Amino acid sequence: MGPIASLLDDHGLKKTLPRTEILNVFLKNTKAISHNHIEKKLGKDFDRVTIYRTLNSFEEKGLIHKVMTPSGEACYALCSTHCPEHNHQDNHVHFSCANCESVYCLTDVAIPTLKVPSGFQFKSFSLMVEGLCRNCFTKTRAMIKKKSSRNAKE
Ligand SMILES: [Zn+2]
Ligand SMILES: [Zn+2]
Ligand SMILES: [Zn+2]
Repeated sequence: MGPIASLLDDHGLKKTLPRTEILNVFLKNTKAISHNHIEKKLGKDFDRVTIYRTLNSFEEKGLIHKVMTPSGEACYALCSTHCPEHNHQDNHVHFSCANCESVYCLTDVAIPTLKVPSGFQFKSFSLMVEGLCRNCFTKTRAMIKKKSSRNAKE
């Protein structure tokens, strides 16, 4: 069984063409992706509703989780841990790039343990860090270097 087939199987989803194709887009991406992004990739093969339904069933089964970008767009990323159905455990830091607006899951960043007041029940929290992603940071740094070497010559 290939990685896609076994992922679907693990989450109790039957293998269908849209599921396979959409999951493939997720596996090829290191960042969270939006409905629009998938539509751009697969729009000629599947309509909006099919993509919407597929994303919904993936989210319900614990295969992907939703992240809201600071500009309010819903993006989805593969769950890193095995999330039980209807109970996501993706309590990790999300990083959003101020320049290209990409959102990444930072699953290796340690998060503080949260203590809620007694009588409150903790369910989940979201932690969004804003900054520049590696790509944009490298680009800006190269630009600053160029500028300062030009200034030095003048
Ligand atoms: Zn999850
Ligand atoms: Zn960026
Ligand atoms: Zn995430």
